[in-house]
Amino acid sequence: MPSRPEAAGFFQASYATLPERFFARADLAPVVAPKLIKLNRPLAAELSLDADFWGSDDGVAILAGNVSPKDVQPLALAYAGHQFGQFVPQLGDGRALLIGEAFGRDGSRREIQLKGSGRTRFSRGADGRAALGPVLREYVVSEAMAALGIPTTRALAAVTTGEAVYREQPQPGAIVARVAASHIRIGTFQYFAARGDHEGLKTLADYAIERHYPDAAAKDNPYLALLENVIAAQARLVARWMLVGFIHGVMNTDNMSISGETIDYGPCAFMDSYHPGTVFSSIDAGGRYAYANQPRIAVWNLARLAETLLPLLAGSEDVAVAAAEAALKQFQTAYDGVFHTGLRRKLGLFADYPEDLPLAGGLLEAMSANEADFTLVFRSLAGDLEAPAGEGTTRTLFTRSEDFDEWARRWKERLAREPEHDAGRRAMMLSVNPKYIPRNHRVEEVIRAAVDRSDFSPFEELVAVLAKPFDEQPGMERYTNPPLPDERVLRTFCGT
Ligand code: AMP
Ligand code: MG
Repeated sequence: MPSRPEAAGFFQASYATLPERFFARADLAPVVAPKLIKLNRPLAAELSLDADFWGSDDGVAILAGNVSPKDVQPLALAYAGHQFGQFVPQLGDGRALLIGEAFGRDGSRREIQLKGSGRTRFSRGADGRAALGPVLREYVVSEAMAALGIPTTRALAAVTTGEAVYREQPQPGAIVARVAASHIRIGTFQYFAARGDHEGLKTLADYAIERHYPDAAAKDNPYLALLENVIAAQARLVARWMLVGFIHGVMNTDNMSISGETIDYGPCAFMDSYHPGTVFSSIDAGGRYAYANQPRIAVWNLARLAETLLPLLAGSEDVAVAAAEAALKQFQTAYDGVFHTGLRRKLGLFADYPEDLPLAGGLLEAMSANEADFTLVFRSLAGDLEAPAGEGTTRTLFTRSEDFDEWARRWKERLAREPEHDAGRRAMMLSVNPKYIPRNHRVEEVIRAAVDRSDFSPFEELVAVLAKPFDEQPGMERYTNPPLPDERVLRTFCGT
């Protein structure tokens, strides 16, 4: 019987107070040789967790799912979901365990889940494990998103298991400890709705309100307020993704968090050269989750959430449907608010003029026609503020530099309409246009070094660089480069 160490500041998840049918109480599935890859010490500190304990053998035993802390029962949560448009009434945590909760400095509850921790009642014949590659990808990309200021689950730690997992080829097994505001997904609501479990649905909605949107409780219609809040949070989130060129890759309803955090980093990637149709995921043959489709898909997913809530919204179905439709219409406004403001900031514009959107659209079009790199172009614009049109460095990022020059003339005219902002403009642009993003070929490189050579130093370096995405970081410039033709990674895999 493994010992049950104390882990100060770590508690049974409050989800365990919900009815038994919300989850499966799970047994641990110990692994042979857990080894810490990385503990996220700053995050541990934010959660008031003792990093020295979590980095010790006792801590690593918990992070590997070999031992649970005293008085804590791990849970696999039940959920359903639309996967690529097809409804699956039961998915659930097939390879993840909710092992507890900690508290952020602001007093908010944060759930800690082990992903890759072994089989559960929801594993559906699969092994319940995760391969090292996807674990490192989740660690790198989720932490990069956090550093960019985008709502996201975090990575508290990654461990290797000392066991092989069998995918196309045997891979080293690993587990990522993920931290989330909660793991309630649109699919969690769908799980109860699909069963006609009205009581369960209401209990879940009440719990989600209390946990994420407590102000909704005081509204005339708390469930409508819940829906409106989730819609607004998702709209803001997806707009933030679009502004940095992030492609989630698997926006199934089970991968959309009610809290509005980015969750489930599978075959995700950042776009290099700008193209609205960009897809990386190997399982997204139809391009359903392509870059430019993401806002539309978010609305589609939110419509599925709205459907589950109809019985709670009003006594009459017509009234409920009208309320849900009105709420869904608010998505566009919330999305546009963040996206348009974000685009203006990226271009260095403080004021709001009607020609700004067409101006931004013109740049994106020129990028698309010239295979220009999304991140480099925006970052480079700040350096061209003083350069006369036809000069500067941004133009060199376009195959036909004249296309940029033509656009730059419009941009300069627009900038001249608010000269009072000249002083703060550069700083604003550099604070919203990142220099360092987790470029897919760099993530792949890190994974190859770890998987093929057990070399984690590239992973360490990439994580460190991405922690300061807006800083210059002399000596690290190679991380800013888009892939050379032979470095290009066209497909990313879930590793499931
Ligand atoms: P994901 O693609 O990670 O969002 O997972 C979709 C569903 O498949 C979830 O219910 C997962 O728990 C389940 N799943 C994915 N990979 C595995 C695995 N290796 N073993 C068991 N279940 C899995
Ligand atoms: Mg998932």
